[in-house]
Amino acid sequence: STQIQLVSRPHGWPTPDDFRTATVEYGDLAPGQVRVRNEFISVDPYMRGRMIDTRSYIPPFRLDETMTGGAVGRVVETTVDELPVGTLVSHQYGWRDIVQEDAAGFRALPEPPAGASSSVYLGVLGMTGLTAYVGLLTIAKMAPGDTVFVSGAAGAVGTAVGQIAHLKGAKRVIGSAGSAEKVALLTDRYGFDAAFDYKDGPVRKQLREAAPDGIDVYFDNVGGDHLEAALDSFNDGGRAALCGAIAQYNATSRTPGPSNMANIITRGLTLTGFTIGHYFDQAADFNREMGAWFADGEVVHDETVVDGIENSVDAFLGLMRGANTGKMVVRIN
Ligand code: NDP
Repeated sequence: STQIQLVSRPHGWPTPDDFRTATVEYGDLAPGQVRVRNEFISVDPYMRGRMIDTRSYIPPFRLDETMTGGAVGRVVETTVDELPVGTLVSHQYGWRDIVQEDAAGFRALPEPPAGASSSVYLGVLGMTGLTAYVGLLTIAKMAPGDTVFVSGAAGAVGTAVGQIAHLKGAKRVIGSAGSAEKVALLTDRYGFDAAFDYKDGPVRKQLREAAPDGIDVYFDNVGGDHLEAALDSFNDGGRAALCGAIAQYNATSRTPGPSNMANIITRGLTLTGFTIGHYFDQAADFNREMGAWFADGEVVHDETVVDGIENSVDAFLGLMRGANTGKMVVRIN
């Protein structure tokens, strides 16, 4: 099995030298084990946080061990009746082409909907879709008639947030992203009412122009200047779901906080942070609603696919730079 391991803890932007490609030999299956050939592995921004050794909601990656994380694959050898050969499964064993572990570490999945590949279970019908659903509806308590602002809007979580917002009755949905192509996609394909490129000028000014009547909900994937701009544009009683702060994940020193926190007081705002691992109890509702939207074509998605396990680090770094539209995945040939 070809596996990607973390060998040093990056300071600032990770480099290929922080990783190595290892070959791991698996023996015969022990009783209770299955062998899975991965189809897709997920690269996710939260993995940057796990590369350093700090107090967090999830322990750091261990050095000289294979990178863990979401992946989908098919059982190719088995010792258990519940997971016969050919079963599509998801698991958290991460960046490797083949994985052999106890059956308990794998969850059987239905075949992907017609026309989709199994990667949808890492994105729009998986963790990032669930994050969008929970963050918007449970954390930010979006209500019909709300004006919603989403940062990181052309990414995996952001594209789902924008669409769910409209399906749940938002009045106006505004997104920000990092290129003209992404901004065009937001309005043309994903139904955003307005969108802007945060590299074109101050977010505060661009958001005010896009939302002249203010915003009620902010779904924050970015932090920094985006959060500050949202605090300026909030209407009274506004709510933010603090989902990510990708603008600072590779920072080498403390990043400045918003200068306008007092708006939280004067406008009675609620800013709530969350990590999706505490909300898996909503997966059944999500699967039902999102599954129906997806099947009916009411939710569309994009994936940026990088081929080959040996290119996983490039895929991860590309994700952090914005090389992706929608979900970034690595396809295992
Ligand atoms: P995305 O698909 O959105 O990919 C990351 C995107 O971030 C890039 O495409 C890039 O798009 C954007 N980006 C990178 N640097 C910056 C910057 N300095 N300022 C603004 N945008 C930037 O990833 P995900 O959808 O998987 O994740 C989105 C966010 O949600 C992340 O912050 C992640 O940590 C968070 N998250 C949180 C979870 C939770 O449980 N709380 C669960 C899952 C994700 P662009 O070209 O537009 O710059």
